[in-house]
Amino acid sequence: MDLYEYQAKDLFAAHGVPVLPGKTVDTASEAERAAQGIGTAVVVKAQVKTGGRGKAGGVKLAKDPSEAREKAEAILGLDIKGHTVHRVLVTEASDISEEYYFSFLLDRSNRTFLAMASAEGGMEIEELAVERPEALARVPIDAIAGVDRAKAQEIVQQAKLPAAVADEAADVIVKLWDTFVGEDATLVEVNPLVRDPQDKVIALDGKVTLDENADFRHPGHAELVDQRTENPLEAKAKSKGLNYVKLEGGQVGIIGNGAGLVMSTLDVVAYAGESHGGMKPANFLDIGGGASAEVMAAGLDVILGDDEVRSVFVNVFGGITACDAVANGIVEALKILGDDATKPIVVRLDGNNVDEGRKILDDANHPLVTQVDTMDNAAAKAAELAAAGA
Ligand code: GDP
Ligand code: MN
Repeated sequence: MDLYEYQAKDLFAAHGVPVLPGKTVDTASEAERAAQGIGTAVVVKAQVKTGGRGKAGGVKLAKDPSEAREKAEAILGLDIKGHTVHRVLVTEASDISEEYYFSFLLDRSNRTFLAMASAEGGMEIEELAVERPEALARVPIDAIAGVDRAKAQEIVQQAKLPAAVADEAADVIVKLWDTFVGEDATLVEVNPLVRDPQDKVIALDGKVTLDENADFRHPGHAELVDQRTENPLEAKAKSKGLNYVKLEGGQVGIIGNGAGLVMSTLDVVAYAGESHGGMKPANFLDIGGGASAEVMAAGLDVILGDDEVRSVFVNVFGGITACDAVANGIVEALKILGDDATKPIVVRLDGNNVDEGRKILDDANHPLVTQVDTMDNAAAKAAELAAAGA
C-alpha cells in the first residue's frame, strides 16, 4: 500500500526523522486556519499518490494565511496525473540551501535491500539515474546487518553529501532505516531531503510503500487506508481474504486457482475477446489451492457485484484439490448466492478427477453454468456471452 506524503511524514516523525509541522485539510478555509496556527509562511501541498506534484502546480508557497487560502483553492480539485486532489497538507515553509535524494527499497533482482542517495535531489530521480548515473549512489544493504551508523556514513560518503551535514545526514539515514524496518516498508523515499541554512537536515517530502503481507504485525496501519479512493470491490475481496485485483474496462469476470493459471487466463480471454467485440478480462482473482464452496461463493459474489461484468469464466486445474471438490464448490456456491447469481458462468475443469467434476456440474444442470472442455474454447465462450450481454 502506498501512503500519502503526510502519512509518510507522520511515520518518519514517529521514528525520529526530522520533518516540519503541518496539518492536512479538505477545504480552503481550513487551510487558512491551519496557516494561522502554524504562524509562519507555509507550503500548501496536494496530497495525491503520485510524484511530480510540484511541476503540476500542486505545491505552492504562501506567505500568510489569506494566501494559504488562495493557494489551497487553486490546488483543491486539481487533476494531477489522473488523481483528483481532495486534501492538502499545510506545512511550515523551510528555507532550502540544498536538496538531496534518499531512498531505501527492496532490490528484488539482487534479493536484498538497496539505499540510493544523491547530493542532487529535488528533480525526478528517474531522469538523474538515466542522465547522470554516477551522481546516484547505490549501496546494497544486508538484510541481517541492516544500517548502523557506520553504514549510514558510508552511504553519505558515496552520495558525496557535504561534510557540513555528514553527521546529521547519517543520523537521519539510520532513522529512515528504523522506519523502513519498523513499519515493514518496501520503499521509503525522501525527495528532497533538504539542508536548511542552519545545516539542519529535514525530510521535506516522503513516499512510503508498506508491505501488506506484514499488516498483521501493524494493527495501526489499517487506519492509513483511504476509504475514499479504495475500490469497494477490492475492499470487499480483501475482507474475505481473496487475492483480487479489479481491471478497468473489462467485461469477463475471471476466477482461477493459482496465480500463473489466472494470469494466462487473462491473456487467453483478452485474445478471444478480440473476436467478440473487444471483450476484456474484468479482474484477476486467484482462489488458491482450497477452492472450497465458501471461497468460491465469496469469489463469485465479488465478481458478480461488479457492474461491468457480463459473464464469468471459472478456470480450474484440479491438483491437490481435485475437480470434483471444485465442482461441488461451484454448485454449493450457487446455492449460497441464490438469486444474487445473475450472469452466465463458463466453467472449464481439467486435471485431477476431471470426469467426476464434470459429471457433478452436468447433474446439477444449473441454468447459468456452461461447461467447456478446453481453456481456449471456454475463453471464447465467455467472451461471446459477455458480448451478447451488452
Ligand atoms: P513532488 O513534486 O511531488 O515531489 O513534491 P515535493 O514535496 O518534493 O515538492 C516539490 C518541490 O517544492 C521541492 O523539491 C521543493 O523545491 C519545493 N518545496 C517543497 N516544500 C518546500 C518548502 O517548505 N520550502 C521551499 N522553499 N520549497 C519547498
Ligand atoms: Mn518530491
